[in-house]
Amino acid sequence: MPAASITTVPVPLGDRAYDIFVGRDLLHEAGARIAALGARAAAIVTDAHVGPLYAETLAQSLKQQGLRAAIVTVPAGEATKSYASLETVCDAVLEAKIERGDLVVALGGGVVGDLAGFAAAVVRRGVRFVQVPTTLLSQVDSSVGGKTGINSRHGKNLVGAFHQPSLVLADTALLDTLPLREMRAGYAEVVKYGLIDDAAFFAWCEKNWQGVFAGGPERDEAVAQSCRAKAAVVVRDEREDGDRALLNLGHTFGHALERITRYESARLVHGEGVAIGLCLAFRFSASLGLCPEADAARVEAHLAATGLPTRLAQVSGGCGTVDELLDAMAQDKKVKGGALTFILARGIGKSFIAPGIAVDSVRAFLEKEIN
Ligand code: NAD
Ligand code: MG
Repeated sequence: MPAASITTVPVPLGDRAYDIFVGRDLLHEAGARIAALGARAAAIVTDAHVGPLYAETLAQSLKQQGLRAAIVTVPAGEATKSYASLETVCDAVLEAKIERGDLVVALGGGVVGDLAGFAAAVVRRGVRFVQVPTTLLSQVDSSVGGKTGINSRHGKNLVGAFHQPSLVLADTALLDTLPLREMRAGYAEVVKYGLIDDAAFFAWCEKNWQGVFAGGPERDEAVAQSCRAKAAVVVRDEREDGDRALLNLGHTFGHALERITRYESARLVHGEGVAIGLCLAFRFSASLGLCPEADAARVEAHLAATGLPTRLAQVSGGCGTVDELLDAMAQDKKVKGGALTFILARGIGKSFIAPGIAVDSVRAFLEKEIN
């Protein structure tokens, strides 16, 4: 079945350049696009939720192009980004006789993409991989940019590699089965791109978010625009030596909340932490006199309209004390001489990296927010 309308977003990274394709029903014709990379075999890595829905379609599409296809299924959930799962996936990829010219295909959300991408980076000292992201978050964020890895008992994403995919196929129809809460969580990252440096895109989101959720053409547009935004940052700063840090807008507060809620998805998922974090970053910027109050209010109003949390009080089971929040932030970002680096904003679409933010001013702000 030919896809109705497909957008291509190039990621021009020299000899690691690749394309992101965005559109409905790409999965059915995935085999042809993947076969064009010139492999003879592919190991499809997926999770226990996504596999039963989509893996067989992808495997059939690959087989029609003459590729051998094996399916490796891991449990769903963040706990799968582990050393144990890495071993399982690496051995399964070897068992599937994936040679240097062959492929690993990640079919799933960010968990599968990070794990399978890392396995691809290390198996046989590196084989190519393809991302077929199936969550909104992975379509707009984690499948683009080449960060792969697993978690350690010392923290999230601490063991990994930069390994760019050879191709990204973002089939927006796959999001039709995504739970609403996961859809919202990914949407917080979409809004983030507007808030970083694209006020017109934020305004577009305010007008079109319902179509994004409902799966209209707006969804494809939001995914493609987000991929363009992320790709532009990644091309400027592939290894996060500079302004790739802008992508952390909302994440300093967000990560602290995830830490406090112990990464229990029943209490908070990443995108919910980001939604609250975006609102806090804007209100903090406003309280420092950097950003109009009206912009902070607009950010909150939009995220709230989509059903995302925007306030510390909305964290299920509580957000901890101000000291706990500051401690959690200090673990995430290095505190140098009583100061933190934040991503702040002079307004919607006007974010910047702000080093040297005094911990005391963060404390004063959080004390107001928590009451
Ligand atoms: P996820 O992979 O856990 O997926 C969320 C849930 O949705 C899972 O239960 C999954 O099985 C299910 N699911 C996925 N697709 C589905 C579909 N189409 N239909 C029904 N159910 C579906 O979570 P995520 O939010 O996609 O990714 C989070 C991970 O991404 C985190 O580990 C985070 O560290 C990582 N991440 C990585 C980067 C990067 O640059 N590499 C960036 C952001 C986040
Ligand atoms: Mg994020």
